[in-house]
Amino acid sequence: MRKGIGVSPGVVIGKAYCIHEIFVNPKTRRLAENKIFAELRRFELARERTAADLRALYEKVASQVGAEQAGVFRAHETILHDPAFTAKVRERIVDHREAAPAALEHVLAAYTALFTRMEDEYLRERLVDVRDVIIRLSGHLSPVLAQDPEGGSGPLILVASELLPSQVVALGMREVAGIVTQSGGQTSHAAILARSRGIPAVSGVEGILRNVKNGDTVVVNGSTGHVIVNPDAEAESAYRKLQREFVHLKDVLAENRDLAAVTADGTAIDLLANINSVEDARAAVAMGAAGVGLFRTEYLFLTHPNVPDEEEQLTAYRAIIEASPQRRVTIRTLDLGGDKTIPYLGHDREANPFLGWRSIRLSFEHPQFFTTQIRAIVRSAMQASTAPTDVRIMFPMITTLEEMRRVRAMVHRVRRALVAEGERVAELPIGLMLEVPAAAVSIESLLEIVDFVSIGSNDLVQYLMAADRDNPKVSHLCQPLSPPVLMVLNSVIAACNRAGKPVTLCGEMAGHPRAFVLLIGMGLRSFSMSPAFIPMIKDLARHLTIEGAEKILTGAMRLKTTNQVNQFMADQISRLAPNLRPLDSA
Ligand code: PEP
Ligand code: MG
Repeated sequence: MRKGIGVSPGVVIGKAYCIHEIFVNPKTRRLAENKIFAELRRFELARERTAADLRALYEKVASQVGAEQAGVFRAHETILHDPAFTAKVRERIVDHREAAPAALEHVLAAYTALFTRMEDEYLRERLVDVRDVIIRLSGHLSPVLAQDPEGGSGPLILVASELLPSQVVALGMREVAGIVTQSGGQTSHAAILARSRGIPAVSGVEGILRNVKNGDTVVVNGSTGHVIVNPDAEAESAYRKLQREFVHLKDVLAENRDLAAVTADGTAIDLLANINSVEDARAAVAMGAAGVGLFRTEYLFLTHPNVPDEEEQLTAYRAIIEASPQRRVTIRTLDLGGDKTIPYLGHDREANPFLGWRSIRLSFEHPQFFTTQIRAIVRSAMQASTAPTDVRIMFPMITTLEEMRRVRAMVHRVRRALVAEGERVAELPIGLMLEVPAAAVSIESLLEIVDFVSIGSNDLVQYLMAADRDNPKVSHLCQPLSPPVLMVLNSVIAACNRAGKPVTLCGEMAGHPRAFVLLIGMGLRSFSMSPAFIPMIKDLARHLTIEGAEKILTGAMRLKTTNQVNQFMADQISRLAPNLRPLDSA
């Protein structure tokens, strides 16, 4: 049994489907003598296709962002055509009779060994580019997700080093029942995507790809963080029983879909969904969300073959608005950097990416690109539909008052320009994502110039605790129920309520039963979470009174450690809603 971090609750058993960066089919790893020529041809074809991709990327990025930023794709093309590189691959195919993917795997390993020995840091970092080119090439040889896992049909457990958004999109059609990744924590892509689909998932299982192969039976317990490869008959049957109980509980909760989201004493609670795509918007409707509290636009960019222009963005935003509950959507501008990067915005060499050039800071540096996005969002609010819409715009990772003033001015400029172009423009509330401790400290002055606040607790917790949200080694610190985090949340929520400004919390803790009760006690009434969590939170709200939540909060705020708060809250959940115990975890 392996232990990682349970990032999306539930138990599932399925067949492993391993995602290696370069897929080498073991059956065709070695070539027959008479296949060598055809394999060389296949490699050439893949090279031509990769070159075409890189040229298209260059053109699009150069026109949308700037020639300088597009330069990276020129550099990649140079690597692709580098005679030493192509000769090495050909040599592996001809002399070692390796299929092209196996040859690429070998050449990548050789470059990795060579580059990591280099003294010069700049050169060492060029490995990223070489790797990028090789992986792009291998995608044209054997699309990573195209192969059928061994063992036929049935639920699949994805096992990957880390799950990229583009892979998740490519997988959209398949029946993915569980996810296990080697890296990542509670708030990494894989975790967020798994939760939005209600798929049990475990992150941070070091080296798992070495211990599992396609077709192995894998148990994923996303509630406890346990992963078992090829369990014995007794363990398998015990886990099958747990899986049935979990599915049953979810089915029962799903019946709450049409019940009002109210506490036991009749206070209305706004339960919104966090989404990344139209599929998630549909899931939000299916789970009974009242609207979308966070649409993360970066997935549109991360999964696009090049750069979505204004019209493409407009179409995508409009589709999201149309698909969302009550056409109510809060759209967040690009939040790249940190763990989410696209090569053309140029941020691959930072010692501290989460403290560096990410999110709004990156957007400010690309004014044309940023303005295009704001234009598309403002236009989408108007053009979405003939039916009424409620579209808002919010900006991530705001740190200072000046930044907030600057984005407000940008939105107003865009509105004026659109009016001058003869477009009808809707009113659009402008909000701030509260994710940086400095903004929490200066919330009073920020509140004077924002229409609403959305607390991004995933980032707020990592910055308050100085503990990387994706690093399993410090996950014991990156805890939303730690006393200092609770104190800051309490004071921010109180400040927003005093100022009469709407406040939502859209970090992952909104969908955690223990945190939900405490946040209700703090006076929060609006929550945005992965759609799959909405039925459970609705059920919990209906077991809870405001007075009861306030008492629980008072008790929790007296405690001094995260462990104490967790234990106290586990007891409270067992008492309030014993039916939800299987879904409750720290
Ligand atoms: C957050 O930081 O809490 C948040 C919701 O944004 P993201 O997880 O996309 O950084
Ligand atoms: Mg964030």
